[in-house]
Amino acid sequence: MTQDVEALRTAPADLPASLRDVVEYRKSGLSLNHVVGCPLDCAYCVRHLFDNYDMKRPHLVMDDEAAVVALTTHWAFRPHRTPIQIFNRATDPFLPRVKDHLHKTLELLDGKGLTNPVLVISRWRVNREDVERMERLTSLKLTVLVTWSGIDDDRIEPIDSAIAEKTLATLAAHAVRTKRILYWRPIIAGINDGDDVIGRARELARLADATVFTGLFHRGQIRAHMRSIGVPDLYDSAPRRKIMPRLVERNILDAFGDQPIFRKTSCAVAHAHGLADYNGHLGIERICDICPAGQVEICAAAHAEPSRELITALAGEAGLVTGTIEIANGRILVEDSTEQQRYFIQHATGFQVHDKSHPHLPGRHGRAEEGWE
Ligand code: SF4
Repeated sequence: MTQDVEALRTAPADLPASLRDVVEYRKSGLSLNHVVGCPLDCAYCVRHLFDNYDMKRPHLVMDDEAAVVALTTHWAFRPHRTPIQIFNRATDPFLPRVKDHLHKTLELLDGKGLTNPVLVISRWRVNREDVERMERLTSLKLTVLVTWSGIDDDRIEPIDSAIAEKTLATLAAHAVRTKRILYWRPIIAGINDGDDVIGRARELARLADATVFTGLFHRGQIRAHMRSIGVPDLYDSAPRRKIMPRLVERNILDAFGDQPIFRKTSCAVAHAHGLADYNGHLGIERICDICPAGQVEICAAAHAEPSRELITALAGEAGLVTGTIEIANGRILVEDSTEQQRYFIQHATGFQVHDKSHPHLPGRHGRAEEGWE
């Protein structure tokens, strides 16, 4: 194992500052990314958005001990509360050699007695030894989200979906405290939303503690890459938010019927652990209409409007000192904020935080316009 750890190259000096900064706040948690680079070539990869797609070989930005210090001393980190993600921005955590750093990082955090939720997202092979090592953790609330799409167009996704299916089966067979989620994404209208794929997703969902379905980020850079490899435009627009057309969602929900499926990642994580959603989605109209009744009760019991004093104090900690703060209809409304500031307040209060300049439309659940007009 030591040899493998040493085999990962150090990141080059000209790595963009955005990637050298290994801690970033994202909606599902404070994200730690001290390994960057991935050979898997999914055409829709978000690495297009920060010019890292061409780095096919994983590189180490800093060692695991330094990375854990960077994470746990980050201004937004709260022991036992802040959700954490590891290697979800620029690599796959279970790639050979990368996974040694994943396991080590998990063990360093667990060794501190931290009980924070930890999300690890992978489409790669998780073998029995990996599961057994994760099962030895004693405090972190660990969830492995197994990305599976059912896409069979090798230009869009050259990785065989059977790899993720095997990973899910291995987790189902050997994991107890480590929870597993079928992360069905990206669902693209006309590509992987047919009855055959939906049927396979329903079978796989039975192996998981919970299932999430999400759409495609069709940003300008991703569309340009698709064009460059000969894929006709998948959608007309290239919006800021993910695309999940109304009809695609309807078909999936109808097919799943009583079988639980979630729109939001943190909802599935919450359900897998029997906890309330740390993003407070309960405050949003109609988002919980597909959620099992017992889970709605758990979330409702934990959902309380935070005081204005608390919000103001948290906003100050996050450096959000401009504009007004309103509390209405299950959400906190702020102005001139960054995502990082909003997620910090959201995770600290368990209450949704939106910026007035990006209003959420009823029933749309934070998705793009395309397919809903
Ligand atoms: S009750 Fe609502 S907020 Fe809670 S997990 Fe279900 S969908 Fe999410």
